[in-house]
Amino acid sequence: MMNKKSAIFRLVVLTILLINIVGFALVSFRVYVSLNQYAYIQTEEISVRVNQMVHGIIDSYNQDLAHLESNCREFLPLAKQSALASPYTRSISLTEKQEIFCSTITDEKRIFFRRPSAENLINLHYIPQSPIVKNSDVFLLILNRGNVHVNFGIDTFIFKNILNTDMNYFSPAFFIDGYYISEKRTEAMNTPHLEQYVRVGNPYIDLYYHLDTENYVNYALINYAFMYLMVTVFSFICGFGLNVHLSRIDWQVFAISKALKKRQFVPYLQPVFDRNRNLVGAEVLVRWIHPKVGIISPDDFIPSAEISGQINDIFTQLVEQLVKAFIPYQKHFTDDFHLALNVSAPQLAHPNLIRDCKHILYRLNKHNFHLIVELTERVHIPQDDLYLQGIVNIKNQGIKIALDDFGTGHSSLSYLKKIKIDFIKIDKSFVDMIGEEEFRDHIVANVLDLADRIGVPAVAEGVETEYQQSYLLKHNVAYFQGYFYDRPVSLDMFIERYLRISK
Ligand code: C2E
Ligand code: CA
Ligand code: CA
Repeated sequence: MMNKKSAIFRLVVLTILLINIVGFALVSFRVYVSLNQYAYIQTEEISVRVNQMVHGIIDSYNQDLAHLESNCREFLPLAKQSALASPYTRSISLTEKQEIFCSTITDEKRIFFRRPSAENLINLHYIPQSPIVKNSDVFLLILNRGNVHVNFGIDTFIFKNILNTDMNYFSPAFFIDGYYISEKRTEAMNTPHLEQYVRVGNPYIDLYYHLDTENYVNYALINYAFMYLMVTVFSFICGFGLNVHLSRIDWQVFAISKALKKRQFVPYLQPVFDRNRNLVGAEVLVRWIHPKVGIISPDDFIPSAEISGQINDIFTQLVEQLVKAFIPYQKHFTDDFHLALNVSAPQLAHPNLIRDCKHILYRLNKHNFHLIVELTERVHIPQDDLYLQGIVNIKNQGIKIALDDFGTGHSSLSYLKKIKIDFIKIDKSFVDMIGEEEFRDHIVANVLDLADRIGVPAVAEGVETEYQQSYLLKHNVAYFQGYFYDRPVSLDMFIERYLRISK
């Protein structure tokens, strides 16, 4: 019993774990895909903002300055106006070779400037040390006009602002001229491993983003905590359901089915004696010979076998063994030998019963051999004609009926009115009371009295002492069975003890 419970418990825990593992993996995969998509979209948006900025600067250049020659006097006033009007440009300057010769900040002052390469028409560069403003870094948008370059100085904070995203779960960055520039820091680019970064195409600047474990965890906790919780709740609901379901299954049915295949059910026989202690018959009591557990008592498996219907196959196997063992010794049966078989009420409606009984009668057909069916009612059965007809069929074969467990709740008393009963078996529980310290004499006396009034011979089962025997003798009990005479024994032992020695 304990084993079954702990096996179910282990299975339930395993199921909960498995659902959690699979569920968490799925949600985490969703987190991975979703954050990557989101980061890519956000970074693309940054790229669009860079383009908007570059195009904004170029548009105002085309509008205000493109028509001008590279003459500083002419260029400067309009350039100053244009710089003021633009949200992005801090300064506009003109360079030729290695020199700035015109700037909205330093006017016509000539300043040495190792100008970066500007192979394209529009080029973006990061200058860590501005040649115009001391101790200041700057982005330069360089327009290539042949010998002369037009430089638009853009504040770094404008780029950093562009890098700002709606979500704080990841950090996009620019890689430019050997510098790593994120919203939070700017540093020479020896730290990042570019292969870990995802590149988002932009014509003017390299734009990358990177997602690390911390980003995923933060994103998952904020956006998917509920889903993780749902997985756990779902796993527990499944575990609970499984537990209820598995607990309801009668696992013994599987074990019985296996035992039937291996023919582990064997008949034991307990002798029955008359008032003069002459052997008059035997009751067949089933035993489950389990290779590991040993001998299993019928009380431990008959209820399951009755509900599952396996009792019918058990009965058939018992009959087969009885017939096979008794055939060679038939002639040693005492006259009027009664072989009693226990039959559960549900068996009455099953065709095996009458077929198996006929089989016994046909094979053990010595004159004056009798078959008794002991009827008990562990499983309550409706007063159905089908069951009643089963008893009638048995009786029609000349088989006798004994009312088992007389006086207890299991007794099939209701049949008394409809069927003529041949024997009453006084239940062991009443015989046990005889000789108890507080002997409840009236209860036993009542039961024995009732049996007497029904007018059929009574068999007392479970007789263990001489005192019980003499008490029962006094109360007109006709037959006796119990450890006082002998225990139920194997077929071989029964034949050895009771058949060979009789003439
Ligand atoms: P039952 O038909 O009332 O059988 C009497 C039980 O009392 C048997 O237990 C028997 O071994 C036991 N017994 C007999 N004399 C004594 C005694 O002096 N002292 C004690 N302490 N016990 C005694 P068992 O064999 O364990 O069977 C239990 C019950 O299982 C039976 O009660 C019967 O209802 C059922 N059963 C046994 N074999 C079969 C079977 O083949 N088919 C069906 N349907 N039920 C069976
Ligand atoms: Ca019985
Ligand atoms: Ca009984």
